Amino acid sequence: MDTTRISIVGGGIGGLSAALALQRFGFRVTVFEQARELREVGAGVIITPNAMHALDFLGVGGRIAQEAGPCEALATRHFETGEVLKLRPAGIDYSERFGASYHQVHRVDLHTALADAVRENDPDCVVLGHRFESLTQDDGQVAVRFANGTTHESDVLIGCDGNASQVRACVFGEETVNYTGQVAFRALVPMSTVPASIQDHPFAMFVGANRYFLHYPLRHRAIMNLIGVGREPRWQEEGWRIPATVEEFETLYGDLYPPALQLVRTVSPGTLFKWGLRDREPLQHYSKGRVTTLGDAAHPMTPFLGQGACMAIEDGMVLGRAFAAASTIDEALRLYEMARKERANGVQLASRRQADEIQGVTTKGANPGKDALERGLYSYNPVTVPLAATGDGASV
Ligand SMILES: Cc1cc2nc3c(=O)[nH]c(=O)nc-3n(C[C@H](O)[C@H](O)[C@H](O)COP(=O)(O)OP(=O)(O)OC[C@H]3O[C@@H](n4cnc5c(N)ncnc54)[C@H](O)[C@@H]3O)c2cc1C
Repeated sequence: MDTTRISIVGGGIGGLSAALALQRFGFRVTVFEQARELREVGAGVIITPNAMHALDFLGVGGRIAQEAGPCEALATRHFETGEVLKLRPAGIDYSERFGASYHQVHRVDLHTALADAVRENDPDCVVLGHRFESLTQDDGQVAVRFANGTTHESDVLIGCDGNASQVRACVFGEETVNYTGQVAFRALVPMSTVPASIQDHPFAMFVGANRYFLHYPLRHRAIMNLIGVGREPRWQEEGWRIPATVEEFETLYGDLYPPALQLVRTVSPGTLFKWGLRDREPLQHYSKGRVTTLGDAAHPMTPFLGQGACMAIEDGMVLGRAFAAASTIDEALRLYEMARKERANGVQLASRRQADEIQGVTTKGANPGKDALERGLYSYNPVTVPLAATGDGASV
């Protein structure tokens, strides 16, 4: 297995986590990314203890924690009045409870930390400007064709090309994709423009009928990350970089707590984005022959549990361990899928169910099962979970 040629399609959080984990166990990996430069969108991502275990093991957890700053108290606030309905205090010792910390991280910082670590191990690991188009495989190898006309052969291919994965479509066929009737908005604003009544509770969730609005600070309170997800039956495009106007936001959020609405009005033109959420059914298998899928390519999920990136990091960690433990590619892919499918598909389905809870449809913001759900999510450790286990996702 030491000389196995491993290719990864997609240099996002999942692809780079997988590359780093495989390198950590002594494998040489090539990551093919469609973009001409390796970069992430400017947005926040919450990294919970389950994923931090892997980042710590891979040697990047310390840097990410240091750049992010400590976890803030979470306030659940009334959508219109801003009254604090529930306060989860700051300083919860996640490390004591779960063995790893919890952070609100700038996606660029997470992605850069992973990319730097991967390139430090192997400066030639990431190949840019290669958009995957198609593949063929046989008993001996998998051959990939890119949009720039080049081809590449390897022993195994890992599709980490996100929600609308072309690798998944090539291996398992095109699937039905449903627009969820939910549109998401996101923006980053400098903390200096944030009203004091918002800064008092920098990590807050406004739960409204069929909508929520969430904000949390990044980089030691230098920046505020804003995100809203609401029901909008009219069809919306999928993607992260679709410009939106404040007027569009106000159509759905006009009755939001005025200081929070004012905050969105201060967003610089061209830096408010929107996209329509798609929902896909869980895959019955992640792998076929010499090709497997990982992260959103394997289990694209709605954002209502904020676990997509964490699942991609967990996947990468377990995949690396599976290759280290196995004596054949077939065995490695089998171990990976057995250890991951129930957990990640379980989170995919739980995230779908969580929409009603988080948007006050069923519980008016009280969300009584959230603590137990979080315990199930955060107590998983991808560094130590038994590789042949199938029952880890039972609690979610
Ligand atoms: C509103 C919202 C909030 C979220 N908040 C959180 C959160 O707080 N915590 C959390 O854990 N998760 C969160 N997520 C989910 C998280 O962002 C994703 O699950 C995560 O980015 C998945 O990583 P990935 O590497 O699998 O896919 P991606 O990040 O989509 O990366 C895929 C990569 O593949 C490349 N690529 C695509 N197609 C090709 C091709 N044909 N050829 C070559 N390269 C290709 C892309 O350019 C990209 O670099 C959120 C998601 C949304 C929508």
